[in-house]
Amino acid sequence: MGMARSFHMPGRHGGTHHAAPPPGGRGGRASRAVLICLLLLLAPPSVGGAAPDDRPLVVGAYRNAPKIIVDDADHPTGFFPDLMRELSVRAGHPIRFEICEWRTCLQRLEEGRIDIMPDVAFSEARAARFQFGKTPALYSWSYLYTRPGGIVGGLAELDGQRVAILADSIQETKLREFSQEGGWTIETVRTASHAESFAAVGSGRADVAIVNHLFGERMEADSGLIRAQFVFNASALYLAFAPDIPRSLVDEFDSLLARLQSDPHSPYFDAYEKWFEAASVRVPDWLRALAAVGIVILLSALVSGVVLRRRIASATKALRHSTSKLQEAQRLARLGDFSWNVDTGEVEWSNGLRRLLEYDENDEITFETVAEGIHHPDDAERIMAWIQRGIAEGATSMGPAVYRLVRKTGEAIWVETNIEIAREAAGRTVIFGTCQDISSRIEMEQALLEAKVEAEQAARAKSVFLASMSHEFRTPLNAIIGFSEVLQMSANDRLTAKQHEQLSDIQTAAHQLYALVNDVLELTHAEQIDFHIAPVPSSLRQCVEEALAQVRFLAASRNVAIVNRLDEEGEILCRIDPIRARQVLVNILSNAIKYNRPDGRVVIDLGETRPDRVRIRVSDTGRGIPESMYGSIFDVFSRLEGDPFLAGEGTGVGLTIAKNLVERMGGDIGVKSVVGEGSTFWCDFPKI
Ligand code: ADP
Repeated sequence: MGMARSFHMPGRHGGTHHAAPPPGGRGGRASRAVLICLLLLLAPPSVGGAAPDDRPLVVGAYRNAPKIIVDDADHPTGFFPDLMRELSVRAGHPIRFEICEWRTCLQRLEEGRIDIMPDVAFSEARAARFQFGKTPALYSWSYLYTRPGGIVGGLAELDGQRVAILADSIQETKLREFSQEGGWTIETVRTASHAESFAAVGSGRADVAIVNHLFGERMEADSGLIRAQFVFNASALYLAFAPDIPRSLVDEFDSLLARLQSDPHSPYFDAYEKWFEAASVRVPDWLRALAAVGIVILLSALVSGVVLRRRIASATKALRHSTSKLQEAQRLARLGDFSWNVDTGEVEWSNGLRRLLEYDENDEITFETVAEGIHHPDDAERIMAWIQRGIAEGATSMGPAVYRLVRKTGEAIWVETNIEIAREAAGRTVIFGTCQDISSRIEMEQALLEAKVEAEQAARAKSVFLASMSHEFRTPLNAIIGFSEVLQMSANDRLTAKQHEQLSDIQTAAHQLYALVNDVLELTHAEQIDFHIAPVPSSLRQCVEEALAQVRFLAASRNVAIVNRLDEEGEILCRIDPIRARQVLVNILSNAIKYNRPDGRVVIDLGETRPDRVRIRVSDTGRGIPESMYGSIFDVFSRLEGDPFLAGEGTGVGLTIAKNLVERMGGDIGVKSVVGEGSTFWCDFPKI
């Protein structure tokens, strides 16, 4: 029958198994425990108070390490010898140990030749043979061991197996009970020690060994046996006394034991720690391997620690270097940065910004500093509204914004600010921004603006001057032309041939000058800033027709044939100012006729260009233009060498005006030519 007394069932943990201490905790001072043990060992067993009959109490000691260890000199150590010596001192009863085998020890105890046996599990049968105290001295359980591939499941697997077990041990009793209850057939191989049980399984004499857990834990690593994954017969171990020992002595030991167990600092726990926690902790192979790996890891950690420290040091140095470079760059670029937590009002300025605004490193920068003193009064409202709008619209980055900040000294500077708006997880809005001092750029821009205004005013004045002068030229020129014609008609007969020639020269020069004045007036007009051009969807074909109508007379007079290939095209719609476009075409067409050879030809057609444009080409069969002049002929008063200025062929202004007009309409003009064969002028107009 089972144990009536209840006790704590120890558990497994951390891969190492310990005897569970009794309730009450345990002390942690192994050194003191060792000292006590030494003192006890040194004390002669016979010294002390008297036994019942004035002789030392005989304590049975059988080999069961680490509970009881017997050395070569038959000197017992271990947990129970330590405990018994401590109890002996406390009880004032000297003890001596008698070494025997388990079974013999029990027999001698029954016979009274041994007075006390520690390490005895309680059973009804034993209670009939010995006396037990009420306090367990230790808790214990057993393990099952097999050769590899043996029992893994439960106790029922013992059925039909040969089990090596310590003869007359509580394990044997329990095994018998279990097998009877389960109806199993078990062949027991009875042994004198747990070591013999292990050997029996190792040699194949038995299939299973059932041994105390403390023995198992110590020896399993070297045994080559495998432990089943369950415990067997967890039990409490008591001091058993011979039947004839006075009950008072049993009770005395019992209460001393209880007192020791109730004090976590008592020698009981010293002994427990010494034998079960320190001495019994066997280092399994895997733990050794792990430790080796650990050492390697530790060493490599140390080495990599050193390397890491070096790397950190060099990275820190590099960081410092780049930070100082950055600061230097910020200083040179007159740049600073800031962050502003919109929700908490926290503001941070970089050293760069402090330098820019001439604040010391120690000056405290708060939201108030920014709100009240930093923004220029004329810009503050605009800039805060800009930021608020960005936040409200969920923008993540904004800028650049150009506005003024006021230095601590009161001086205003222009800054260009870019910001990033971050929404943090906590719902906070943080603005990070950079401010660059652009005062000198703004000054330069303002100077340029002023210069531009001045230049425009000067240009306008020049235009006004030229326009009025041209106008003033035309009146006397008209008079010269008019009166020279009158003179030619009225005094025709009286003029000599020489005078006729001179009068003709006057007329030609006057017409030439008149044309020049007109062109200059036109150019002046075209260059005026407020010269109005109104591009509208227009038919390019119609423009060409109208321009041709204006030059047909000239073409006929030079006997130049005109071929208009646009007739073969469909409607061509462009966004142009039709009057100005026609003016351009008249100029190009009249040049193509003027600078053509007699009986030459002018062809008008379309050319290849960008898809958003229409290219109209005017090709002639004239003398051509050298490539070096392609650009310059569009400059004002630029003419090819040998052009007869005084012969009234041109002024060198027409192409300048044409280029100006085409570009103002969003188009382009150019030329390609083969000297001696002819030229092709092209005009690109925006297509619809
Ligand atoms: P203008 O014809 O009144 O002299 P333009 O500005 O129209 O002024 O032309 C500038 C010069 O370019 C002309 O004087 C002429 O030398 C040259 N040029 C223009 N068109 C042609 C052409 N189709 N063939 C040869 N030369 C030309």
